[in-house]
Amino acid sequence: MRYTNGFFPTLKEIPQEAEIASHQLMIRAGYIQKLSSGLYTYLPLGLRVIQKVQNIIREELGRCGAIELLMPILQPREIWERSGRYTLMGELMMKCKNREQKEFILAPTHEEIVTDIVSRRVNSYKQLPLNFYQIQTKFRDELRPRFGVVRAKEFIMKDGYSFDADQEGADKTYLDMYKAYERIFKRCGLKAVPVRADTGVMGGNESHEFMVLAASGEDGIAICKGCGYAANTELAERIPASREGGKEMPGAMSEVHTPELRSVDELAAFFKTDPHKFIKTMIYTAGGDPVAVLCRGDVDINEVKLKRALNTQDVALADPVTIERATGAPVGFAGPVGLKIRMIADLSIHGITNAVTGANKKDTHVVNVNMPRDFKAPEFADIGVVKAGDECVKCQGTLDVQRGVEVGQVFKLGTKYSITLDATYLDKNGEKKPAVMGCYGIGVSRTVAAIIEQNNDENGIVWPMAIAPYEVAVLPISMKDEALVSAAMGLYNALQKLGIEAVIDDREESAGIKFKDADLIGFPVKVILGPKSFKEGNVEIKMRKDGKSTIVPCEEAALKVRDLVNQEKLYV
Ligand code: ATP
Ligand code: MG
Repeated sequence: MRYTNGFFPTLKEIPQEAEIASHQLMIRAGYIQKLSSGLYTYLPLGLRVIQKVQNIIREELGRCGAIELLMPILQPREIWERSGRYTLMGELMMKCKNREQKEFILAPTHEEIVTDIVSRRVNSYKQLPLNFYQIQTKFRDELRPRFGVVRAKEFIMKDGYSFDADQEGADKTYLDMYKAYERIFKRCGLKAVPVRADTGVMGGNESHEFMVLAASGEDGIAICKGCGYAANTELAERIPASREGGKEMPGAMSEVHTPELRSVDELAAFFKTDPHKFIKTMIYTAGGDPVAVLCRGDVDINEVKLKRALNTQDVALADPVTIERATGAPVGFAGPVGLKIRMIADLSIHGITNAVTGANKKDTHVVNVNMPRDFKAPEFADIGVVKAGDECVKCQGTLDVQRGVEVGQVFKLGTKYSITLDATYLDKNGEKKPAVMGCYGIGVSRTVAAIIEQNNDENGIVWPMAIAPYEVAVLPISMKDEALVSAAMGLYNALQKLGIEAVIDDREESAGIKFKDADLIGFPVKVILGPKSFKEGNVEIKMRKDGKSTIVPCEEAALKVRDLVNQEKLYV
C-alpha cells in the first residue's frame, strides 16, 4: 500500500472524550471513527486488525472441529418469548418493528436461533456432536457505552454453540474450546487469564471468562498467588480475613440512643470503634418475602452470591415500608436481635464478639451483641464481596484483587435451551434425549482494544506481529532523491513478492513526521532509507518493540525483513 493511496487519518492531539490508552490510540492513529455513543466505524486500518484476529479465530476453531455459519441479526420477538429470555434480557435488547407492526429484536446473542436450527435439522445421535460458530455484529443497548469499542452498542463477536449427546461429550467440547481460547489469545499477543465466572442470563452450570488485566477493567478478579485460583469477584469464594484481636469477654448488651446515625462510618465515629465491630443488617426481599442479610461492617454484600444462596434471581433491597413492617423501625436501625424474619449471614459474622448493631427501634443501636447469646445463629453463606487479604478457600493463601477486561467467555449450558426449544435427538435405543449444550463468545472488537491496552508506549501502538495491520513501513526519507525513492520502491515491491505486508510512505513529508506516524500506527518494522546511509548502499531496519536497529546492505534488506517478520509470527 502506498501511503498516499491509503487512509491514515492520524491526529496529533489526544482526543478529549477518550479516557484509556487503547481508546485514545485507536482514534489518534486512525483505526476507528465515532458515529455516536457506542457506535464506531472500523476504518481501513482497524478493519485489517479485526480481520487478522478473525483469521486466527477461524484457524484455531477449525482445528477443534467447529464449523462456521451465519445467522440473522434481525429476529422475531416470539422465539425470545419461547425461551423466556425476552423479559430477562430487558433493556439490553434493541427492539424494532416492521411496517406491519410486527416486533423484532437485534440479536445480543444467538442461543435461541442456533437451538432452533438443531431442533429442526437434527434427530439422531449419529448427527452429534455439532459445534457451530459465527463471527458477526451484535447489538446491546448498553447503559454506559465507554472506552470506545470496549463497551459499544454495536460490536463484533465470535459466538459459538456446541451440541453433544451427553454430559461427558459436552465436558470434552468445553475443554477443547477453553484450550482453543488460550491459543487464540496467545497468538493475538494477549495475556488473558482464565477465571471462574458466573453464568448470569446465559444460565448453565460452569463458566470461565478470559480476562485481560488492566486498571480500567470493569470486572474484579480475585487471584490467589499461592495456588493460582482465579475467579471473578462476582463469585469468588473466600474466607473473610479475621479482624478479631485477642479474646474479649462478652459484655452486657445495652441500648444506645443514636439519633439520625445510620451508616457504618457515622456510627463507627460515634462509638469510637472500627467498622469490623458492626453487624450490618440489610433487609432484602427474595421472591416477595423479606429476608435480613447480615455481614460485618467492613464487608459489602455481593448480590450475585446472595441470589445464588437464596436460590432465586428475584432478590432486591426492600422498600422503606417493607423494612418498617419487618423490623418495626425505619430504615437504618435493623439488627438481628429479636428479629422474626428469615436471616442469612455472611461468613464474616462468625466469631464476632461485642458487636454493635441496629436495635429494630428508631434512633437506637445495641452494643455488646454476641451470638448465640443474643440472637439465634442464622443461615450462613459466603455472600460478601471478596477483598484483597481474604483467605483463599483452596489453599489458605492470601487473595489479591485486580481489575480485568473480559475478552471471552465459555459456558456449560446443560439442557436449558435444548429442553425449552426442543433440540432433542434419538439415542441408540430410540429414546428421545435433549442435546447437552455449551456456548462460547469472544469479543473480537474488544479484543483489539485489549491488545492495544497491553501493547503501547508514549509514541503509540506496538502491535504484536501476528495482528499488525501491516508488518512493515518502508520510509524513504527524501522524496527528492530519485535513486533513493526508486530503491525504496524496489524494496517495497520485493517485500510484496515475499508475502510481507508493507506500506511505503511516499508523502513529501519530513523524516520526523514519517517516524511519528509510523510509530503511532504501530508498524512492527520500519525500513528507513536515509540519504547518508543510502549513499553507502545501506538501509536501517528498526524494530518498533524495542527500538533495536540493524544496518544492512540495501539488496539484502528484503530477505532480512522477511526473516524478522516470520520469526515473530512463529506459531505458538
Ligand atoms: P460484559 O460483562 O462485559 O457486559 P458479557 O459477559 O455480557 O460482557 P458475553 O455475553 O459473554 O458478554 O459476550 C461475549 C464477549 O463479547 C464478551 O466476552 C466481550 O468480550 C464481548 N462483549 C460483550 N459486550 C460487549 C460490548 N458491549 N462491547 C464490546 N464487546 C462486548
Ligand atoms: Mg461474558
